[in-house]
Amino acid sequence: MTIRPVRYIWVGVLATLAFLVLLGGTVAALAGLQAALIAVLFAMLLVGWHHLHNLQKLALWTREPIGTPVPRALGVWELVFADLGRRSRLAYDMRERLSAALERFRDASQAMPDGVLYLSEHDVIEWVNRKAEQHFGLDHATDLGVPVTNLVRQPEFVHYLAAGHYVEPLVMLSARRKGLTLLVQVIPFGDDQKMVVSRDITQLEKLETMRRDFVANVSHELRTPLTVVSGFLETLMDGWDDFSREDVARFLKLAHDQSTRMQRLIEDLLTLSALETGAPAPAEERVDVAGLMREVFQQTDLLSAGRHEVVLALDGDGVLLGSQKELHSAFANLASNAVRYTPAGGKVRLSWRCDEEGGEFAVEDTGIGIEPQHLPRLTERFYRVDLGRSRETGGTGLGLAIVKHILTRHQAELKVHSTPGQGSRFSVRFPRARLAAPALQAIGSKLT
Ligand code: ADP
Repeated sequence: MTIRPVRYIWVGVLATLAFLVLLGGTVAALAGLQAALIAVLFAMLLVGWHHLHNLQKLALWTREPIGTPVPRALGVWELVFADLGRRSRLAYDMRERLSAALERFRDASQAMPDGVLYLSEHDVIEWVNRKAEQHFGLDHATDLGVPVTNLVRQPEFVHYLAAGHYVEPLVMLSARRKGLTLLVQVIPFGDDQKMVVSRDITQLEKLETMRRDFVANVSHELRTPLTVVSGFLETLMDGWDDFSREDVARFLKLAHDQSTRMQRLIEDLLTLSALETGAPAPAEERVDVAGLMREVFQQTDLLSAGRHEVVLALDGDGVLLGSQKELHSAFANLASNAVRYTPAGGKVRLSWRCDEEGGEFAVEDTGIGIEPQHLPRLTERFYRVDLGRSRETGGTGLGLAIVKHILTRHQAELKVHSTPGQGSRFSVRFPRARLAAPALQAIGSKLT
């Protein structure tokens, strides 16, 4: 039963009075008035001591940590303590629930892939998650309670925060980590409080730059041959009669070469785009490596037109699991590069071999070679060591980018070793999982 606090007094007073009257009456009847007075006085002292003692217990209990059980008591104090105990338990449970909710909220904020920073009045840091610590170079152990602009001092951030127009996010470079680009958004809430969310957009920025460069490169690559073709046509239109048949034939041949170049470029772009958007290469198609290599060898020999010694070396046959069309395109690209970048009289060697770790296709040449600083960038779209030579030999600058995509789709790895002036070796390693049974049998027989 719950008794409201104000009634405790009446219950106590009535119980005490009843006790004293009963005691006084009984002692007076038995031992006279004087004895009754002494007994009542003594009883009042006892009652007073009981209340003071319980008051003392109450005072001590209030200093204990929240959740400490209430002291035991008798009489009206039992009711008081029971009520207090109930309330204390409720408050304790509520506090536990609130702190668990706060903990969950903090864990969720910590797990967020974005940086989160809570600022109280005057932009003082109230809380910061790990990502925001990394993005802004903050430390929650030392920086809580410090105005954020004392620590993140980049002018663009300070102005953005002070301006108060947070509709558009701010793009800024992190002062802490070089090359890190951040997208910062401020969300005001409550009474002059702010949540600052920071996102790492370095990769997105890179992709955007690549996209811009790509569009610029394609436009540039198409504009050059197009200018030549339209120039010829204009010249011919302006003075058809001024040119001999031979001149016209020469002009037409040049215009045709340029249009072939544009066609090649567009074909390569389409191939690249198909590869970029496509799923991984199929594993069901069984590609006979020896047959494929012979085909590539014949095309390479044809391209060389007797200017090089072209050699084919097959160490065991094999069956690759993948796309015949794509593998042909990759191998032929590497082989045609070897011919195009090897002066007449040089040697081009195509080879295939299997071992216990997988298969390796390689193209070696004794050509012009490549300086080491260019090697990491060779597979970038439109990257050429020597633009003039690439164009002269009909290159689009997309060949190795296509090769790389095809190889990635086949889980294969491209390696390039080159010595300027001496030649290059482009090798492709296929994992064992891409080799079908006959190739594995070939390995088995070699090992025994
Ligand atoms: P391209 O159409 O210009 O040949 P690629 O993507 O096939 O474009 O090759 C990129 C660049 O790599 C070439 O422009 C060339 O400078 C260099 N390269 C590729 N293969 C060879 C090679 N076998 N020998 C020397 N340089 C090469």
